[in-house]
Formats: sequence, C-alpha cells, structure tokens
Amino acid sequence: MTRRSLLLVLSLLSFTLSAFGGPPGAPITLVIHGGAGTINRGEMSPAMETEYRAVLERALLAGYSLLSDGRPAVDAVEAAIRVMEDSPHFNAGKGAVFTHSGTNELDATIMDGSTMKAGAVAVVTIVRNPISAARIVMERSEHVMLIGRGAELFATTQGVEIVDPSYFWTERRWRQLQKALVEAAPRLGRGYVPASPDRKFGTVGAVALDRQGHLAAGTSTGGMTNKQFGRVGDTPVIGAGTYASDRSCAVSATGHGEYFLRYTVARDIAALMEFGDMGVKEASEKVVLRTLVDAGGPGGVIALDRKGNYAMPFNTTGMYRGAIGRDGVPRVWIYEREK
Ligand code: ASP
Repeated sequence: MTRRSLLLVLSLLSFTLSAFGGPPGAPITLVIHGGAGTINRGEMSPAMETEYRAVLERALLAGYSLLSDGRPAVDAVEAAIRVMEDSPHFNAGKGAVFTHSGTNELDATIMDGSTMKAGAVAVVTIVRNPISAARIVMERSEHVMLIGRGAELFATTQGVEIVDPSYFWTERRWRQLQKALVEAAPRLGRGYVPASPDRKFGTVGAVALDRQGHLAAGTSTGGMTNKQFGRVGDTPVIGAGTYASDRSCAVSATGHGEYFLRYTVARDIAALMEFGDMGVKEASEKVVLRTLVDAGGPGGVIALDRKGNYAMPFNTTGMYRGAIGRDGVPRVWIYEREK
C-alpha cells in the first residue's frame, strides 16, 4: 500500500468514527421491561407465567436480531416494543387498560441518543402500534409530541397501521376497570385521577445499545386504569418516562406516572451520570430506590450505558424484565428474588 492510499484509508476510518460517534463493535445489548407492580408468585398461574416469559423472550430476540445485523438501536427498541404491544398481556397496544369512560387512550415515545431526536404520541385511540407512530413523529415531523386527533391524522397520512378502537378491547382489562370504578366511586368528582387499585402497571419499554455504540430508548402504555380528563402520564414525556443520550444512558420507566413526571426520573438518572459521575447502576438505584421511595412513588426503570452495563431497579414486588447481550441468550425475570 502506498503512503497516499494508507493516509486515505486512515482518514476514511477517522471520518467513519466521528460520523458514528463511537468505536464500532460496541457490546450490543437490549434490555426490556413489561411493567412493574404488585406481582406475587402465588397469584400467578404457571401457564400465565410461561406466557409472560415467552413474550418477553420473543421481544428480546426480535430486537437482538436487528442489533446483530448491525442495525441502529432505535430499530431494536421499536421491534421489541411492537412484540409486547401486540400481546394482550401488557398494558400497551392490544392489552391497554381502559379509561374511566371505557375507552383506550395510548401513549408512546422513542428517543435516539445519538441525535437527541425524539418523537411521542399521546391519547391515541386507533393506532395499533403507538411506538411506530412515535418513531414517525421523530423522523418525519419537526415536532417531538403530537396528541389526540392530530397525532392520529398524522399517523394515518404516514401509513401507520390504523385499527378500529374495538381492537383494544380485552375481557381482562374491562374487568379491571369495573373493579376500579367500584373502588374509586367514593373519590370521584374530586378532580383527580384514581390510581389503578391493583397496582400492576404493565407498561412496556426497551433500551438498546447498537454496534456503533449508540443508545436509544422507547416506552409504550395504555396509562392507568380509570384515568380521566385526558390524563397523560410520564411515558410519552421526554425526561420523565423515557430518555436517551449517548452522553450518559438510555432509560425507560414504568410506575405511577405522576411521580415520574414530577421527579423527572429518566433525566435525573442521566444527569447523575453526566454531572455526578455515577455509574448506571448507582444512578438508577438512587432515583428508584431512594428518591421515589421517599416520595411514595411505586415503579421501576431499565437503564443502559454505552459500555453495555445495565440496571433494572424497581421498588415494587416485581417487574417483568429481560436482557440480551453479546452471547445472544435471552434472559427474563419477573419477581424480586430472581434479581
Ligand atoms: N407509567 C405509566 C403511566 O403512568 C403506567 C405504567 O407504567 O404502567 O401512564
């Protein structure tokens, strides 16, 4: 090789590194959750548990196959979340919980840590996979968040799959609403949203690290059973339920959204890493196990850094969760003791 062609190769290599922001060959990793809450071993049938674990594994493998093909982290996040949105077991997409008036209003967001671009939709009622609508907002609009009719109109014009609202009806969620209505009846009319009485959150989320060393995060939810007045939680709000930055980490949260909004949970974790020099485990445990516990906010997060280190702290009895790394073996957990 002549000196000139060697220089050409070196400058091409350095261009590639700076264009993609990090060394190629990062330890590809995907971490997911399917909601935190009061999840007790004794209350779950073995058949149900097997189904939950199977969907989590499918979601991990769907995202992982894209990462191992060298595709970007946002692709893996979207693919994993779509699998969980299509399952009736999680509170997102098909299994979304009901509002006070018996409708399903879905929220989702996605963020690309390499560009700091983000997209979100809230209060959508006809979009089969809200995470894909959020991605389209990120990539094809100048905005970050679209809500309600406007979001639905945008999604429709962009070719996102639209369904009849009845697609989201499931017996189990309907029964949960009936129970919540009875339990919340004495508190109605006081202008606030009663929380889901059974304290199972079920929102889904994913964080991913791609081979180029970039991070992404996404979260999708039906919100909280019996929510009223157009209530929107933390899920579609950047910095509350979802955040990703190549400077620190990718975070997706689940829990009682009002606390995650007020304590800007996802961004706080990133800020503790950026400005407080903490690692991903220390930062996410500080926020979930100290700040949120002191505040009385139930829930958990998944958080991942650019080296492939991840943490999944929660302050409830369980959190559906899973991870897959370089070895390609999906691992899933539900209860606390499995940690
Ligand atoms: N965080 C979601 C919300 O408040 C609920 C959940 O995590 O299941 O809308």
